[in-house]
Amino acid sequence: MSYRCRAGLAATASMDRYDNLVAGRTCGPCMACCIEPAIPGHGLDKPAGEACRNCLPQGGCGIYDTRPQPCREFFCLWRQVAFVDEAWRPDVSGVLIAPSSQTGGTPSGISVVFIVAAWAHAAIGTAAFAELVAAFVGRGIGVHLNLPGNIGEPARESRLHDWVLRAVDAGDLAAIIAGVRACYDATVAFDPAPA
Ligand code: SF4
Ligand code: SF4
Repeated sequence: MSYRCRAGLAATASMDRYDNLVAGRTCGPCMACCIEPAIPGHGLDKPAGEACRNCLPQGGCGIYDTRPQPCREFFCLWRQVAFVDEAWRPDVSGVLIAPSSQTGGTPSGISVVFIVAAWAHAAIGTAAFAELVAAFVGRGIGVHLNLPGNIGEPARESRLHDWVLRAVDAGDLAAIIAGVRACYDATVAFDPAPA
């Protein structure tokens, strides 16, 4: 199977401009982007893996009308890219895919980050996860794997595309799965605490 799809670049090149939302998809009850990523500054200083202090118990944002600009601008890739199918809704899958500010080392200069909740790590070893990673890498898009730490700890992050690029080029799903699993093991083993 080939995962290469240069034509797909046009569909994803604007993923950081928030102007290409998938029709019919809404956030609904999902609040993954208010829980999983770290949000420094903007009056939030929210650690990774911890619900924002403004999350309401019944769902929604308690300061919606005055929420900071990053909250107004953010849409995950499930909202933006049709090939990230329904099963990957972040609150259901535990996988939040976000635009990444890291641009180096990929044909497109575009990268995304897969932020995987602690309760969803088992998904990382599956064929479905590997195929989703390959769908991005095959379009020349970098994929970073981010594992939020315990509350207050820094997240662990790796350049997942480096681990699977050859396998994606070869269309070898078993090798892609193996690369993803090896990257996950290395990311878990990495100690982000300063020496
Ligand atoms: S993670 Fe995506 S689907 Fe969930 S609330 Fe944020 S933008 Fe909406
Ligand atoms: S301020 Fe509101 S929208 Fe922003 S992270 Fe907190 S709960 Fe979510």
